[in-house]
Amino acid sequence: MSSYFNKIFKPCINEIHNLIPGHKGIGAYARVARDLILPGRAVFQDIVVILTTRCSLNCKNCNNLMPLYDKPYHLDTDTVIADILKLLENVDTIIKFGLLGGEPLIYPELGRVLQVVLESPKVMFADITTNATVLPDSSLLKLMRHPKMFVEISNYGVKTQKVQDFAALMRENGIRHTVDKATSWVAPGGTEQRGKSREQLEKEYNACYSSRYCRTMLNGKLYLCARGAHLCDLGYMKSEHDVFDVRNTPSGPGFREGMKRFYLSDYAEACNYCDHALGKKVKPGEQLKRK
Ligand code: SF4
Repeated sequence: MSSYFNKIFKPCINEIHNLIPGHKGIGAYARVARDLILPGRAVFQDIVVILTTRCSLNCKNCNNLMPLYDKPYHLDTDTVIADILKLLENVDTIIKFGLLGGEPLIYPELGRVLQVVLESPKVMFADITTNATVLPDSSLLKLMRHPKMFVEISNYGVKTQKVQDFAALMRENGIRHTVDKATSWVAPGGTEQRGKSREQLEKEYNACYSSRYCRTMLNGKLYLCARGAHLCDLGYMKSEHDVFDVRNTPSGPGFREGMKRFYLSDYAEACNYCDHALGKKVKPGEQLKRK
């Protein structure tokens, strides 16, 4: 099993470093470092919750496989909130709690879910990643003005994106945000199993950003990688190894220990269905025609 330092401690400190500018982060560093060291505490760098598999774009090389959903769907809001509350009940701190799609701004009850995340004292930062095809309405903007809020705008250079308008709204409302201009993507390849050895899976997983960040919850289960979550949801892969079942694991010390073991995993079976390690660069956001 991988070391606590590399898989949890260091990513937590890095996440704070990225989210809190300079000296203002000293108090947060101290609090998180103390909780990371104290026995029995449960602090994790980030969690991403999928709200919908519907997207307003249709990217050919989507790492999360959205174009393969014949029947994309919104998740039931009450169930999503119950899963989030169960998870938060069993941890002490999540540094960054992300809401994602598909495109999260087309999820009808984004505001309701965001409010739960923002109100939790266990969440240090709430994050939304958007493709900026849909602008937030006034009630969402009001919520987003919360000091814990952070918005990541992905700019793929697709015509229907309103990146400048979205960023202007963020500035006008004092909402922390970044605009990430992608110059290239790495092609993840198809959904077939590649037959890689366990040694190869370990090597690829540990070299990948996803082995330290972006644990993804979909339908009450946490996955080691967002691609794995959708590979399982679409039926291309079955895995018990890559999953921590939030909904069906009883609350208590066993939950915390199970989640820690999950974070410290040495490999992900999802890497057997992924070409990221090949590093083949492709144009970002290339659009497929809708069926
Ligand atoms: S499947 Fe493996 S290599 Fe591909 S993105 Fe996920 S963790 Fe990285």
